[in-house]
Amino acid sequence: MSLNYKVICITGTPGVGKTTTAKMLHKKLLKKGHESKIFSINEIAINNDLIIKYDEEKDFKIVDVEKLDKKFSELIHAEENNKNDLNSKNNLGNNNLSYTNNLNYTNNNLKFDNKELIAIVDGHLSHLCSRCDKTIVLRVNPDILKKRLIKRNYSKIKIKDNLESEVLAICSYEANEIHENKVNEIDTSDLSIYQILHICMDIIQDKNHLPIGKIDFMDYFLKGNE
Ligand code: ADP
Ligand code: MG
Repeated sequence: MSLNYKVICITGTPGVGKTTTAKMLHKKLLKKGHESKIFSINEIAINNDLIIKYDEEKDFKIVDVEKLDKKFSELIHAEENNKNDLNSKNNLGNNNLSYTNNLNYTNNNLKFDNKELIAIVDGHLSHLCSRCDKTIVLRVNPDILKKRLIKRNYSKIKIKDNLESEVLAICSYEANEIHENKVNEIDTSDLSIYQILHICMDIIQDKNHLPIGKIDFMDYFLKGNE
C-alpha cells in the first residue's frame, strides 16, 4: 500500500494566526498518533530563490507561483517516497517475523496502517499550490488585524493593503477559484486558539465543512475606513 500525505493548507492574510494555528495543530496531530509535518510556504519560496520581484515601497515580495507549486509538489513527493521506503522496509522485517510470530506481524501492520500522514502547509500563498486536500482560510475582524499589524511595525501602506485584502476576502476568493469545495473559512475573531484547533481538527477529519461566503467584514469600509 502506498502512503500519501493528506495536505492541509492554512492560509489567510498576514497576521490572522496561520503560524500559531499550524504549530498547535501539528502538536495536536502528533499527540493523537498521526504523523505530521509542517511546511512553511514562505521558507520554500525564499530557500529556492522563487522571489521574482521586491516592491520596496509596499515591502511586498512577488513570488513565482508556478515554480512554487512545482517545488512544493516535488517536496511532498520526496517525503512520500521516504515514507514508502521506510514502510516497505518495515513490512519486510515484519514478514520475517511472521514465520515465527504471526500475531506480532499483524499487530505491527495494523498499527502502521492506522496512522495518517498529514502535511500542514503554513502561508498566505499555500492555497495557490495544487497539491492540496483541504484549505482552511483563517479570517479575523479587520479591527483586530489592524492592531496586530501595527504591533509588527508594518508600514501604513502595507497595513492598508492587508486590511483591504482581509475585508475583500482575497485569499478565500483565490482559494475557491482553485480548490472550490475543499475550501473552508473560519472567523477566528472571537475564538481562542483551542477553539480554532478544535474546528480545524473536525475539518481535517471530515466532521465539519465551513464553506466560504458567510463571513462579511464590509462594515469596516462603511465605518469610514478605507
Ligand atoms: P500569521 O502567521 O497568519 O501571520 P501569527 O500566527 O503570527 O499570524 O499570529 C499573529 C499574532 O496574532 C500573534 O501575535 C499571535 O499570538 C496572535 N494570535 C493568533 N491567533 C490568535 C487567537 N486565536 N487569539 C488571539 N491572538 C492570536
Ligand atoms: Mg506566519
